[in-house]
Amino acid sequence: MIARNITVRGVVQGVGFRPFIYRLASQHRIKGWVKNTNEAVHIFAQGEEKSLKLFIEDIAAKAPQAANITTIETAIAKPEPFDTFEIQNSENVSEAVTQVSPDIAVCEDCLYDLEHQPHRINYPLINCCHCGPRFSIIENLPYDRPNTSMKEFEMCSICQNEYHNPANRRFHAQPVACNSCGPRYTLFQWNDEQTIQTDDIEMILKIMAAGISKGKIFALKSTGGYNLICDATNENAVSNLRNIKRREGKPFAVMFRNIEVLEEYAYLNENVKQVLGSFRRPIVIIPSKKALASSVSMGFDTIGALLPYMPFHYLLFKHLSTDALVMTSGNLHDEPIIIDDSVALSSWRQKIEGVVAYNRKIVNRIDDSVIMHVENGPDIFIRRARGYVPEPIIVENRNFEGIFAAGAELTGTFAIGKANEIILSQYLGDLKNYENYLFYCQTFENFCRLFRFKPKLAVSDLHPDYHSTLFAKQLGIPLIQVQHHHAHVASAMAEHGIEDTVIGIAWDGTGLGTDEKIWGSEFLICTPQHFERFAHFEYIPLPGGDRVVDEPWRTAIAYCYTFWKEKLFDKDIEFIKTLERSKIFNILTAINKNINSPQSSSAGRLFDAVAVILGLGLRPTFHAELPMRLEAITSKLPSFEPYPFEINNNIISFAATFEEIFNDLKKIDKDYIAKKFHDTLVKAGLEICEKIRYEKGIEKVILTGGTFQNKYLFTNLFNKLIAKKFKVYTHTKIPPNDGGIALGQMYIASSQH
Ligand code: ZN
Ligand code: ZN
Ligand code: FE
Repeated sequence: MIARNITVRGVVQGVGFRPFIYRLASQHRIKGWVKNTNEAVHIFAQGEEKSLKLFIEDIAAKAPQAANITTIETAIAKPEPFDTFEIQNSENVSEAVTQVSPDIAVCEDCLYDLEHQPHRINYPLINCCHCGPRFSIIENLPYDRPNTSMKEFEMCSICQNEYHNPANRRFHAQPVACNSCGPRYTLFQWNDEQTIQTDDIEMILKIMAAGISKGKIFALKSTGGYNLICDATNENAVSNLRNIKRREGKPFAVMFRNIEVLEEYAYLNENVKQVLGSFRRPIVIIPSKKALASSVSMGFDTIGALLPYMPFHYLLFKHLSTDALVMTSGNLHDEPIIIDDSVALSSWRQKIEGVVAYNRKIVNRIDDSVIMHVENGPDIFIRRARGYVPEPIIVENRNFEGIFAAGAELTGTFAIGKANEIILSQYLGDLKNYENYLFYCQTFENFCRLFRFKPKLAVSDLHPDYHSTLFAKQLGIPLIQVQHHHAHVASAMAEHGIEDTVIGIAWDGTGLGTDEKIWGSEFLICTPQHFERFAHFEYIPLPGGDRVVDEPWRTAIAYCYTFWKEKLFDKDIEFIKTLERSKIFNILTAINKNINSPQSSSAGRLFDAVAVILGLGLRPTFHAELPMRLEAITSKLPSFEPYPFEINNNIISFAATFEEIFNDLKKIDKDYIAKKFHDTLVKAGLEICEKIRYEKGIEKVILTGGTFQNKYLFTNLFNKLIAKKFKVYTHTKIPPNDGGIALGQMYIASSQH
């Protein structure tokens, strides 16, 4: 008889880990105990040498699906007089924390129970050790029921028996519940005078199905907040939903009944099916095959698809005739997704057909995750949230303890450091919006409590006006400020644990440079500590400053004026003819007198300008719409030659490109111009990389920044660099956009200290 102390770290709590260990122990005739502490799962195991060895091997080999073991440590222990194996009470032993599981989609076994288990027939919040809400309901560690918003629900005797029975799948499943003891759904509707409500689940489903088939809209409380839903094949319903959300042009996500149905509507491959069906259930953007209501995709030939992930979704589809539901965040415009039932009721009362709530509190608000599938390259994260957060990014041999990274502004996300783990917050929205900023502050508080985090060092963007910078400043602890694009590149370095020098191509909409100008087309030579700006696009004034984001025609004028001066009026440019002369002259005056016209090298703005010149719109209805439309029209046919451009002193000028685009406008279709333009940027990127490799011998390249959400640009530059024998690194765990900035800030801060 020998004994071992075993410590298991990783995502090992809230995923059915202790019951799994318990069953494994009885299988191998192991005696001892297992318990959760705030930092890990600890096991005392004793038995025959051979079975103990098998037991330890099986821990890693047979772990539950949502578990993610990072380390298993074993130490020799003295045998003790145990004749059973037991699950002991959880303990708080230090300030270290174990990983918290992300929320997990309902499992197959629970879907079976939904139809067969007498006390859980149609129970819409059914869950077990292997599935159900986790991060969204946790207040504190260790992950035990009293530390979650399930604490208000007392288990009935049947649930209690299951909870305490090691042979049961719900053994120590913290959110375990049933029809008689668990949280319930309620449907709220209203007539002129009063609110009518029912919590009969059959009734709720029938009313919803009938309403949805007539084109009505409902608000439905999901795992991390409310969704607004309607029939995705009913144009009236979808355009009504657009009005209610005040969302003019951004495509809506669609939940499909199942993968077979989705296959009729979109092009799938095994990789996409696997991501869509994983326990994380993100929205995946894929090429569409068959049209839904036209207001769903707004002219784009892709669809943001997801599969049901809550038991309620499955129950609802059983009653529905439609196979596809618009499933969009329940918020107004760009505010945070609503989580509070009373706010939901007051926001949508009489505007929609009904609000479907359940009486369990959402502790951590969390939106759906969004991933863009890339056919000939790695998939790209657009938004990292439900199903992924709060899984940490681990960097071996580093210590991030006590570092708070504030992130950027437009795609608010912060990060906290715990030992060698970086825990990124969920997507928090545009921090210029006050409600989103409050969400940021609240989430910071939640993270400090949950992860026992005490900030000792803060790191923020250089930009003095970012709300994240201001937040970091008011913490009153030492602050490091790092350049935006250095942080972009460092975020990818952190993902891959890169410590040496790389070529960082960081292209995006905006980021403050060290020369006080706006950067966004950077070729940086980077280590985790330092960067040198090697090359960039030439500076163009942005008349009106931030206003160019909503009025990109200003940028287009600035480009034309920079290259052609007053001769721009002699050129027969379509969009210029649609603008009032006086407006244009105001812009020219602003540029000439340098009134609120900061210099910018932003790639995003260049895309804006070209899109305007190609007549794709003057005012976008959502962020980055024009660059997205420019990409969308790009011809799929073989290429013409890219446009000419010039490189002088490592500054890339597109004067010749614009001249040729202008000539082409009269000769060839816009989809070819769009393609030639994209190919021009790819060629410029490649040439600069070759120059750097020739001069400095660096061959690792990182592609990062929001502009690389452009699939055409990304895959072409990626594949061409690889063909030229560069070692190319991109993001696999976080978005290339500003949602990844906090990770890079953290990496830089820990390198400098
Ligand atoms: Zn389950
Ligand atoms: Zn019960
Ligand atoms: Fe950025």
